[in-house]
Amino acid sequence: MYWSKLYAPTLKESPSDADIKSAELLIRGGFIRKSASGVFSYLPLGTRVLQKITQIVREEMNIAGAQELLMPIMQPAEIWKTTGRWDDYGPEMMKFRDRNDREFTLGPTHEEMITTLVKDELRSYKQLPVNLYQINTKYRDEIRPRFGLLRGREFIMKDAYSFHTSPESLDQTYKDMYNAYSRICDRMNMKYVAVEADTGTIGGSNSHEFTAFAESGESDILVCEKCGYSATQEKAECSDDQKSADEPLKTLTLVETPNVRTVDELAKFLKIEKDKIVKSMVFTGKNGYVMALIRGDLEINIPKLKSYLGDQTLRFATAEEVFEKFSSQIGYIGPIGVKAVRIVSDNSVKNLKNYVVGGLKNEYHYINVNHERDYKINEYTDIRIVVDGDKCPKCGSPLKLKKGIEVGQVFKLGTKYSEKLSATYVDSDGSEKYYVMGCYGWGVSRTMAAVVEQFHDEKGIIWPKAIAPFEVVVTIVNTAMQDQVRVGHEIHEMLEKHEIEVLLDDRDVSAGFKFKDADLIGIPLRITCGKSLENGDIELKLRNSDKSSKIKIEDRDSVLRSVKTLLENYKL
Ligand code: ATP
Ligand code: MG
Repeated sequence: MYWSKLYAPTLKESPSDADIKSAELLIRGGFIRKSASGVFSYLPLGTRVLQKITQIVREEMNIAGAQELLMPIMQPAEIWKTTGRWDDYGPEMMKFRDRNDREFTLGPTHEEMITTLVKDELRSYKQLPVNLYQINTKYRDEIRPRFGLLRGREFIMKDAYSFHTSPESLDQTYKDMYNAYSRICDRMNMKYVAVEADTGTIGGSNSHEFTAFAESGESDILVCEKCGYSATQEKAECSDDQKSADEPLKTLTLVETPNVRTVDELAKFLKIEKDKIVKSMVFTGKNGYVMALIRGDLEINIPKLKSYLGDQTLRFATAEEVFEKFSSQIGYIGPIGVKAVRIVSDNSVKNLKNYVVGGLKNEYHYINVNHERDYKINEYTDIRIVVDGDKCPKCGSPLKLKKGIEVGQVFKLGTKYSEKLSATYVDSDGSEKYYVMGCYGWGVSRTMAAVVEQFHDEKGIIWPKAIAPFEVVVTIVNTAMQDQVRVGHEIHEMLEKHEIEVLLDDRDVSAGFKFKDADLIGIPLRITCGKSLENGDIELKLRNSDKSSKIKIEDRDSVLRSVKTLLENYKL
C-alpha cells in the first residue's frame, strides 16, 4: 500500500473535544472521525484495525463451537414488551415508529430477538446445546457518551447466545466462552483480569467481566493480590467486619439537631465518630418504598441492593417523595416509627448499640438507639460498597482498588428469557421444558480504544502486532533521491510478495513529518531508506524501542529474514 494513496488524514493538534488519550490518538492518527456525540466513522486505517479485532474474536468464537449469524438491528417492540424490558431498559433504548405507526427499537442487545428467532425451530433436546453469535452494530442512548469509542451510542459488539437442556451444559459453554475471551485478550497482548460481576438489567445468576487495566477506565475493580479474588466494585462482597460494643443499653432520647443533616455534620455536632451513626436512605422501586440502613462511615452499594431486592428500577426517592411519605426532610429520616415500609439493613448495623439515627422529624435525631428494643430490622444483608484496603472475602488480605475498561462480559441467564418468551423444547421424556440460556458480549469497537489506552507513548499509538493496521512501514526519507525511492519500492514489493502487510511512505513531504506520522499511527516496524544507503545500509527500528539497527540491502534474503525475526519477536 502506498501512503500517497492512503486516505489517512493525520492531525498535528489534538481535537478540542477529545476527552481521553485513545480518542485523541485515534482521531489524530486518521483512524476515526466523530459524526455526532458517541457516533463515529472508521476511516481506512481504523477499519483495518477493526477487521483484525473482529477476525480474532471470530476465530475464537468458532473454536469455542459458536456459529456466526446476523440478526436485524431493527427490532419490533412486541418482543421487548413481552419480557417487560421495553420499559425496564429505560431511556438508553433508541425507539422509533415506522410509517404505519408500529414501534421499533434499534437493538441495544439481542436476547429477545434471538430467543424469538430460534424458539419455533429449536424444538428437540437432540438439537441442543447450540451457541450462536453475531458481530453487529448496537445502539444505546447512553446518558454520557464520551471517551471516543469507549462509550459510544452506536458501537460494534460481538454477542453470543447459547441454549441448553441443563445448567451443567450451560456451565460447560460458559467455561468455553470464558476461555475464548481469555485467549482474545492474550492474542492482543491486553493486560486484563476476569472479575466476578453484577448481572444488572441483563439478569441471570452468574457473570464475569473481562476488564482491561487502564487508569482512565470507568470500571472500579477490587483485586486480591494474595489469593486472586477479583470482582467489580458493584459486585464485590464484604467480609464480615462488624463493630460491636459490649455496653449496657442507654435510654432512647430525641435531641434537637438544628441545621444538621449530613453524617459529617452530625458527627461534629454530637462530637462522636461516624461509626456511631446509622444512615437511613429511602429508595423507591416497583414495589414501593424501601428504607436501607448502613453504618455512618460506610456507603450503600446500589447495584447490590437492586440485585438483593430483584428490582432493577430501584432509585433514590426524591426530596419531595420523601417529604410526602414521611413528613420529614431527607436529612432527618430514620427508622423509628416508620410503618409499612420495607427496611433492609446492611450487616454492619447488626451488632451496634446506643447509636444515632434521624428523628423522622425535622431538626431532630435520636441518640442511644438500639434495634430490637426501639424498632425492628427483619432483613440483614451485604449492601455496602467495598473500598481499597477492605478485607478480601476469601482470604482476609487487603483488597486493592484498580481502574479498568470492561471489554467483555459473560452471563449465565438460566431460564429468565425463555420463560418470559415461552421458549421451550421437547425433552427426551416428551415433556416441554424451557431452554437454559447463556449470553456473552464483547465490545469490538471498545477494544480498539482500550488497546490504545494500554499501548501508547507521547508520540502516538504502539499497536500490538496482531491488530496493527500494517506490520511494516517503509519510509523513503527524501523522494528526490533516486536510490532511496528505488530501494523503498523494491523492499515494499518484496514484503508484499511474502504477505507481510507493508505501507510505503512515498509522500513528497519532509522526513520529520513522515517519522512523526509513522510514530503516531503506531506501525510495529519501520524500515528507513535514507542517507545510510550511500553505504548500502537500510535502518530497522521497532516502534516500542529507541534502538535501531542497520543491515545491508544487497542480501535480500537476509533483509527478509531480519524483518520476519523482528516481527516474530516483537513483544506486543
Ligand atoms: P458498561 O457497563 O460499560 O455500560 P454494559 O455492561 O452495559 O457496559 P454489556 O451489555 O455487557 O455492556 O455489553 C457487552 C460489551 O459491549 C461490553 O462488555 C462492552 O465492551 C461493550 N459496550 C457496552 N456498552 C458500550 C458502549 N456504550 N460503547 C462501546 N462499547 C460498549
Ligand atoms: Mg457489562
